[in-house]
Amino acid sequence: MKWTAGKITYAYDEEQCTCGAALCVEACAQSVLDANEETDKMEIVNTVQCIFCKLCEEICPTKAISIQGALTLDDVVHERDW
Ligand code: SF4
Ligand code: SF4
Repeated sequence: MKWTAGKITYAYDEEQCTCGAALCVEACAQSVLDANEETDKMEIVNTVQCIFCKLCEEICPTKAISIQGALTLDDVVHERDW
């Protein structure tokens, strides 16, 4: 699965999701990720809540998650309806 937001791309390769411990789910404070008990793999359930902190990418031991790019101040200002 892959999705983009502004200049950021979040990619998740389910084939590489093999830790079986849902480490990324525990790391995500935004409830973006969930563990599928049947497959023992991670599922992305709420992309809207993602703040692209990259904690899930950093903790994943199998490099199943890849987040490219970063938000700039311009992106944040233009996203807000001030
Ligand atoms: S930490 Fe990586 S391998 Fe483990 S559940 Fe998350 S994506 Fe899959
Ligand atoms: S980048 Fe941060 S907020 Fe987004 S899914 Fe990963 S841990 Fe959660």
